[in-house]
Amino acid sequence: MSDMYLKLVNTTVGKTAAQTLGLPSPVPLNRLKRADQPFIEGDVLVGAGNGGKAIATLGGVLGASAATVHHASGKATLEDSAKAGNKTRALDLASGTERRFSALVFDATGLRNPDELRALFDFFHPSIKKLGTHGRVVIIGQDPATCRKAAHAAAQQALEGFTRSIGKEVGRKGATANLLWMAPNAENRLESSLRFFLSARSAFVSGQVVRIGKAEDAPTTNPVAPLTGKVALVTGASRGIGASIAETLTRDGATVIGLDIEPAMDDLEQVMQPLEGKALACDITAADAPAKIADFVEKHFGGVDLVIHNAGITRDKTLGNMPEHFWDMTIAVNLTAEEHINDELMNRELLRENGRIVCISSISGIAGNFGQTNYSAAKSGVIGYVKAMARQVKQGITINAVAPGFIETQMTAAMPITLREAGRRMNSLSQGGQPVDVAETIAWYCNPTSGGVNGNVVRVCGQSLIGK
Ligand code: NAD
Repeated sequence: MSDMYLKLVNTTVGKTAAQTLGLPSPVPLNRLKRADQPFIEGDVLVGAGNGGKAIATLGGVLGASAATVHHASGKATLEDSAKAGNKTRALDLASGTERRFSALVFDATGLRNPDELRALFDFFHPSIKKLGTHGRVVIIGQDPATCRKAAHAAAQQALEGFTRSIGKEVGRKGATANLLWMAPNAENRLESSLRFFLSARSAFVSGQVVRIGKAEDAPTTNPVAPLTGKVALVTGASRGIGASIAETLTRDGATVIGLDIEPAMDDLEQVMQPLEGKALACDITAADAPAKIADFVEKHFGGVDLVIHNAGITRDKTLGNMPEHFWDMTIAVNLTAEEHINDELMNRELLRENGRIVCISSISGIAGNFGQTNYSAAKSGVIGYVKAMARQVKQGITINAVAPGFIETQMTAAMPITLREAGRRMNSLSQGGQPVDVAETIAWYCNPTSGGVNGNVVRVCGQSLIGK
């Protein structure tokens, strides 16, 4: 779908008009152009506070990237920054460098009490204005739930408010800020998340907090096609976000089974044919759907590695005016069907080792929405389901959710224009997302090296102002 305002405001006349009238001036986002594009380029500044535990991993990941890595010196001198590897160069920010950074990365895992939060100010105060357009801020902390002392938990929790506020300050440059909360000793599970949040793949993901736990060593993968050899099931794949998920997972090496309802078969065939995937006609709410899907994956592939529950519907009405079948259908498609399909695949042991399940929630499931009691209940239910299942799935398997905000699809094109415009502008990046933004987030969850990312709900919403 086309966002005319975004186009207009990026013309010379439009830019001046928006500035004069105090209107939002969104910057077109920089999305991935080629699958083999380096995940980060340009100048990256790293820092660490008081014995950061992730700095060596950070040095390894960035050292192997196409970026030139600097560590802060001068007032923000942090001995640990030097541990980011001998490829890094010391940079005195107080000297007034004219450099523009493509990313600022700070290891805050060593901050043990509120006094030590000063390290954040010392690192970011001189550097934040030097973050370039489309820049990335990534902060690494320790999950406060794993901190025994209250002062330690306070310092680590403080990173959440800090990161979300930075996201709101840098969004106008098309830049993002995100926080990775590690479990103790989970440094070796950071790489896939660092690569995602530093790259163009996460263009519309900002203000998010991801928990990374310990996991078994992941098999080494081909960074350009990490899903090679994997079989993916994508529901609702005939259009919109589902079609983009099918394309993105195929790009990453997977063989995709696209599923949709019978009337959408022509569209589904058109999506699946160039991808050389398989199309399956199925209404996921039908009583025999779980068995039909399980039989199909067993017959054609002997099992499935990635299950993406994307199919969804809205049937909006205020609660007092809502017909019964609006309620029933919305809960059935968006929530119940996912549970039944997963149960069948797992009971028949068709979800393979290191399997990945991804469910689609919505910011409506987090913040609630007028006229969407049914949809919001279903999408909130998805979050509860994912969090509970994350503790129950077999070791190596993960289950996570994405909660899209306003994404440009046929679903949102059908909204009244005033609501549509509000949906687009009410986030830190002042624009709607594209289906591919959701698809890239799912591809990161599905990566074999994302084994430590389990039970998370990541919003793909440009840091929507709605919700918590
Ligand atoms: P869409 O309406 O364009 O596509 C949904 C697909 O699901 C369609 O192809 C449809 O035929 C299929 N589907 C519906 N009922 C089905 C059933 N019973 N069995 C099998 N397939 C069925 O929607 P979209 O905008 O691409 O959204 C995809 C997902 O993302 C949905 O779960 C939606 O709730 C969620 N979401 C979208 C947005 C957004 O802004 N577009 C925001 C938040 C969440």
